[in-house]
Amino acid sequence: MNAGNAPMPALFVGHGNPLNALVHNGYTEAWRQFGQRIPRPNAILVVSAHWYTRGTAVTAMAQPPTLHDFGGFPQALFDIQYPAPGAPALAGQIRDLLAPLEVRLDRNWGLDHGAWSVLVHIFPDADVPVVQLALDATQPARFHYELGQRLRPLRDQGVLILGSGNVVHNLHRAHWDEHALPYDWAVDFNQQVRDLLLRGEHEPLIGYEQFGAAADLSVPTPEHYLPLLYVIGAQSADERASILVDDIAMGSISMLSVVIGAIDAASG
Ligand code: ZN
Repeated sequence: MNAGNAPMPALFVGHGNPLNALVHNGYTEAWRQFGQRIPRPNAILVVSAHWYTRGTAVTAMAQPPTLHDFGGFPQALFDIQYPAPGAPALAGQIRDLLAPLEVRLDRNWGLDHGAWSVLVHIFPDADVPVVQLALDATQPARFHYELGQRLRPLRDQGVLILGSGNVVHNLHRAHWDEHALPYDWAVDFNQQVRDLLLRGEHEPLIGYEQFGAAADLSVPTPEHYLPLLYVIGAQSADERASILVDDIAMGSISMLSVVIGAIDAASG
């Protein structure tokens, strides 16, 4: 249960390579520790880069299936199940919070790898209910930020808002070597985003496309960046951001992970 009056922290995770689900490394250790440093959530609302579709939808099934939404990976990754229950009542509440926006109650999606590849580390017991919110690909960045603002009250009832994407995500330029040297433009864009997060300056984060060439190369398509806007949209003016992970993998994939709100205040 969420102790006291502090809102549940919100988290953006740079999920990177799906194989992170299977390994223990510096990223996954930071995610695991986050799960131990926050009060146990009543539920988790995931906004994943990998549900990028038309319209806004929220998973509303009692038992969301584990989706293996990738190809070319080892069988061990396809064997992973993350059997967390759904939260149909929360899905309905999210639809009501976002009204008059039309929010479809979805019974076809489930938990994609943007959700479970990090949740297997944060909450390995899969015993906290999870819903996913779809990203409407037809909408501009500000729309996504404003949805995050409207979802902020969920934090006061112990819901963990978890955005899962990557601030820099350019697979065409990626090296399949976790330790490849990062591109200068990836370092530049990642640094700008990190500094803006730490200063709580949201407008330039919403208008990231105006950063020029570094943004063009770092965010060639928006789906991995947009989950961040939900997380900072859910940030109150008096809350600070802190950095959980700051690294660039494979040359062009930012693993930057940021926490909104206080952690370690009520762990147990
Ligand atoms: Zn991804």
